[in-house]
Amino acid sequence: MIPLRVKIDPFPISEPLVVRLQNNGSLGEGTANAILRGPDFVEYDVCGMSLTVRTTEPDSLDGDVVMILPGQRSLHRLIRNGSSHNTFLVTEQCDQKCVMCSQPPKKHHVDLFEPFFEAALLAPFNATIGISGGEPTLHKSRLFEFLLRVQAGRPDIEFHILTNGQHFDEDDASALQSLDRTRVLWGVPCYSASPEIHDDIVAKRGAFEVLERNLALLGRNGHRIELRTVVLNSNASGLADLSLYATTHHPHIAFWAIMQLEPIGYGRQNWGREFFDSSRIFDPIAAGIDIASIRGLETVLYNFPLCTVPEQYRRFCANSISDWKQKYLPTCGVCSAINRCTGFFEWYPEGRGFSSVGAL
Ligand code: SF4
Repeated sequence: MIPLRVKIDPFPISEPLVVRLQNNGSLGEGTANAILRGPDFVEYDVCGMSLTVRTTEPDSLDGDVVMILPGQRSLHRLIRNGSSHNTFLVTEQCDQKCVMCSQPPKKHHVDLFEPFFEAALLAPFNATIGISGGEPTLHKSRLFEFLLRVQAGRPDIEFHILTNGQHFDEDDASALQSLDRTRVLWGVPCYSASPEIHDDIVAKRGAFEVLERNLALLGRNGHRIELRTVVLNSNASGLADLSLYATTHHPHIAFWAIMQLEPIGYGRQNWGREFFDSSRIFDPIAAGIDIASIRGLETVLYNFPLCTVPEQYRRFCANSISDWKQKYLPTCGVCSAINRCTGFFEWYPEGRGFSSVGAL
């Protein structure tokens, strides 16, 4: 697993600090240059102050944009150089409590939009930055302000924003239309065409009704939507209906991501009850894909190891698991498809997951 936090020696700051670590030469403003290297540390010059990073793999940090918070003994790797899986966790608050949530909500919120803005300005050209939570739109005005400021300073950057779609309203039209809609993709979960089942999964009465309204609102304002559905025991049989619903009522959806469960957070707590073994039964997923395909909705399978999917549906699988939490099993070592396969989450419980996994 790739660490997203790395130990540092005490560093005397009173405000969050964002810099790009540079091991050789200087990239200019916002850059901390390495001035001393040892077997288990690198010392960087940060505006005349010495920052000591404790690592035995300094090259892995070269070019990373990192954030240091006052009083903390580790840095946060906000943008890892060369990775396409960089996400800003803008809040841990959420108004839903989804059965598969990988980042269970917390009450407390720390506003880090300013350091995130600074980090975005230091991102590589044409980077895609994920925005996640919690629920980012609980801090909607700050979020829009952040997006518009980044857009003004770095129009090359793209955003993939995860939202439960509960907090938009007609007053957001102006902000939504000010954004470069070619550079923003909203990832919005919908778990069922049945309001009752969706509301049960997200543990919020009336959530489906609001979601339906706001999917339409995003569409009316020209925004691209990735509809996201985690397959669970409680919704798998309804995937065909959901496919019909999405293609009938929300034809503006850019594509539909059908996702396997991530065994972390509530997903781990509820794994035994909700993990749907799609290596054993794939028919409901196939039905959803078939209907979507016939009706012109592009579909993609996230977090499905290739060998757990019938051959004719493997072309829908994406290498979706973020590099820092991706792993492969011993059997994968002799698999001819390993370079095309997303593998497993680092915390995948072998023996309690897919009943059929094997080298191709
Ligand atoms: S054996 Fe491993 S690498 Fe091969 S398809 Fe299955 S999960 Fe992927």
